[in-house]
Amino acid sequence: MTLKDLEIGKSGIITEVAGEGALRQHFLDMGVIPGAEVSVIKFAPLGDPMEIRIHGYELTMRLADAGKIGITPSESKQKQNKPRSVENTTPHPGLGEEGKFHPKGSGDPLPDTEILSFALVGNQNSGKTTLFNQLTGANQHVGNFPGVTVDKKDGEIRGYKNTLVTDLPGIYSMSPYTAEELVSRNFVLDEKPHGVINIVDATNIERNLYLTMQLLEMDIPVVVALNMMDELTGNGGSIDVNRMEHMLGTPVVPISAAKNEGIDELIKHAIHIARYREKPLEQDFCSQDDNGGAVHRCLHAVAHLVEDHAKEHGLPLRFAASKLIEGDDQVLKRLGLDKNETETLEHIVLQMEKERGLDRSAAIADMRFCFISKVCEECVNKPHESREHIRSRRIDKVLTGRFTAIPLFIAIMGMVFS
Ligand code: GDP
Ligand code: MG
Repeated sequence: MTLKDLEIGKSGIITEVAGEGALRQHFLDMGVIPGAEVSVIKFAPLGDPMEIRIHGYELTMRLADAGKIGITPSESKQKQNKPRSVENTTPHPGLGEEGKFHPKGSGDPLPDTEILSFALVGNQNSGKTTLFNQLTGANQHVGNFPGVTVDKKDGEIRGYKNTLVTDLPGIYSMSPYTAEELVSRNFVLDEKPHGVINIVDATNIERNLYLTMQLLEMDIPVVVALNMMDELTGNGGSIDVNRMEHMLGTPVVPISAAKNEGIDELIKHAIHIARYREKPLEQDFCSQDDNGGAVHRCLHAVAHLVEDHAKEHGLPLRFAASKLIEGDDQVLKRLGLDKNETETLEHIVLQMEKERGLDRSAAIADMRFCFISKVCEECVNKPHESREHIRSRRIDKVLTGRFTAIPLFIAIMGMVFS
C-alpha cells in the first residue's frame, strides 16, 4: 500500500521511500523517512495533490510522489497537542552573553575595525525577509550571487557600524540539490561569515530545526532566532528556551520579527558570538543508544577517516562526515580522498546500512529527526490550533470540497469575467 491509497483521517507508518536523487533527498529532509508516521488531512478537489501531517506539521505532495511512499496502516499515535507543562527549571546557560566564559570561544575579541559579517539563514516563510528589514532598515543592497540567478541582499545592522548581514535564500536543508541550497551552503563554507543568524519558525519547529542542526555541524558561530513567538504563545504554546539553548549548545533568542520584539537581544547575541568567535558546543547529535548506535559508529568512523582531508581542504569535520555518508559528490570531490579511503568509506557506510536497516541518506535524516524529537519533547509545549488556522480550514472545506469546489470556481470565474 502506498501513501496515496490512504483515506482522509487515517494514519500509517512509512515503510519505504522509493525514487532517487534530488526529490528523494528532499522528501527525506522534510521528514518523510521510513518509520515515521503520516496521516492524511485532505485531497485537492480533483484528487491531486494531497495534504499530509508528518512530524507535527503539514506537507502537501503530488499523488505521483505519494505513490512512491510505501506505508502500513496504523492507529495514529501523533500527539494531539496534549497540554503539558514544560518546566522551566534549566538555569539560563547564558551562551553568547557578555562576561560569560565560553569553552569554545577565543577569549580575545576581534578588533572594532573589523567588519563583522553575518548570514541570515532559514526556511521559507520563517520570517526571514521581515527580520532582515528589521535588522537593516533602509540600508539594503540588492544584487545577485555570482553565477546564479539567486537574489542576494545585504546591509548594515541598524545602529551598529562595521556589520554586514547577508540574506541567504530560504531553504530546508544544506543538501546540494537546488541552486538555493548550494548558494547558502557555499556561502557559509567559503565566505566564512563571522556568525550565522538562523531564523526558526517556532510554530513549525520540527521542520525548521533540521536546518539548524546542519548549521551547527558547520562549526561556525550560530545564534538561533526563534521567530513567531507571538503566535506560539498567543495560542497557548510555550518553549523552554533555556533548555533548548542547553541542548543545542548555542544561543537561542525568542523573537517576533513582525512585532519587533527581541530584535535588540538577538543583535547583541549575534555580535557577541561573532566578535568572540563562540562556536556551537554541540555537534554530536547521534547517540549510542539510538537504534543500536549504528549511525553513531558510522559517523565517528568516517570522521576519523577523513579528519586530515577535512582540515587540509577547510571543511568542518562533522559536516563533511555526515555529507559523505549521505553520498554527497561535491563534498567527496572537495576532500580529495584516494581510492583506498573511498573504498573504506563505502565499506563503513555499507555496514551501517546493514545494521541500521535504512539506506545512507535515510539513516542520516532519521538520526537528525530523532534528535529533534528529543529536543521538542523536552522543550516545546505545542500551541492549540490558531483561530486563523481554524478559519482557513473552514473556508477550505467549502472552497475545496468535493461537490462545492467546481461550482464555486465557475461562479467566481464568471464573476471575474462579467
Ligand atoms: P520569508 O519567506 O522567510 O522571507 O518570510 P516573510 O518575512 O515573508 O514572512 C512570512 C510571513 O510570516 C509573513 O506573512 C509575515 O508577516 C509573517 N511573520 C514574520 N514574522 C512574524 C512574527 O514574528 N510573528 C507573526 N505572527 N508573523 C510573522
Ligand atoms: Mg522572503
